[in-house]
Amino acid sequence: MRIITARGAIKNAIASWLDQYRHDAESAPLHWKRDKTFGQARAELRTLDAETCSESDFNRATGLDSTASYSSWCSNTCDECGEHRDEVVRIGQEPDYDARWQDLCDGCLRKALAMVTAP
Ligand SMILES: [Zn+2]
Repeated sequence: MRIITARGAIKNAIASWLDQYRHDAESAPLHWKRDKTFGQARAELRTLDAETCSESDFNRATGLDSTASYSSWCSNTCDECGEHRDEVVRIGQEPDYDARWQDLCDGCLRKALAMVTAP
């Protein structure tokens, strides 16, 4: 179990994106935005200040600002209520690819606790 912050989600998105697309050629166009290359996206991502950049900065650098379907890289939402939160608690294992964890906000954690402590 650990706390995931909105800032941590952005930092993780930058590192994860650079890792996931590390083998794509510098000159290869992004699959979702053909007028930008993987090399350009990597260069833009590396210029971002991970301590201050926004989710929009990440999406712009990676060409995701023009798509809605891939905008969840930086999301920090509760898996129970779906609300974006500054902090969530991640519960469960974190294997390489399968999502075997849940991110829960404080409100949903209280509701879950009430369920097991109710008389
Ligand atoms: Zn919640």
